[in-house]
Amino acid sequence: MPVASDTDGLDGTADRDSESADGDLPVNELFCSLQGEGRLSGVPSVFVRTSGCNLRCWFCDSYHTSWEPTGEWYGVADLVAAVGEYDADHVVLTGGEPLVHESSVDLLEELAARGYHTTVETNGTIYRDAPIDLASVSPKLDSSTPTPDRDPKGDGEWADRHADRRLDVETLARFVEAYDTQLKFVVTGPEDMAEIEGLVGRVRRAADVPVPDSAVLLMPEGRTREQLDETRRVVADLALEHGYRYTPRLHVDLWNDAPGT
Ligand code: SF4
Repeated sequence: MPVASDTDGLDGTADRDSESADGDLPVNELFCSLQGEGRLSGVPSVFVRTSGCNLRCWFCDSYHTSWEPTGEWYGVADLVAAVGEYDADHVVLTGGEPLVHESSVDLLEELAARGYHTTVETNGTIYRDAPIDLASVSPKLDSSTPTPDRDPKGDGEWADRHADRRLDVETLARFVEAYDTQLKFVVTGPEDMAEIEGLVGRVRRAADVPVPDSAVLLMPEGRTREQLDETRRVVADLALEHGYRYTPRLHVDLWNDAPGT
């Protein structure tokens, strides 16, 4: 069944969950590639990209899971079988926001039972208890807000809702405490650093485990090689200056904005 943009909840207009009655997951794409971002950059991985998100970043690089969510509904068993067709032992559950879906936990449990290493790429606003080997949490900064001049639909309709939802320090602290976590920030320029420093400090105070600088990753904003040419070096210099880690967008460097990478 196609996942239409007006399906209840998938476009974020209804609150959070958008489950089918039988626990299926809306999936936008499933493919094998090299992990392009974060600590596991370069590791062959199967990507399961769910559709639907509770935020609307103006720069979203998976537009068809957020602004216009599309996909097909699949049962967890079918997804595990599809993952098994590839020769990879790492699985990345991404989106959209995969943790808007309760059935993501079922999928993660089935993958863990088969010995897969799982990474969940999340915006860090919704916590779920699941077998996650690496939580790749990408808190959304003020600069992600789809103000009328940046909104891809041009109406600014999501600006307030996005701003209200984009950060929850207590939830971020839960991730840090429960999982091996990398905090991955999409950086548009030096003006983002004060907010990042402030937020890292708030998470450190809220969590009862340490958050080392090496767990804080700065990633340049940019969906194409040309856009990354503008931000890559600036963000690398910021990582060096602040003692954080730089992460490339390897898939963009290698394949530009080709789908399925
Ligand atoms: S949280 Fe992620 S998937 Fe959702 S709109 Fe932002 S970048 Fe896109």
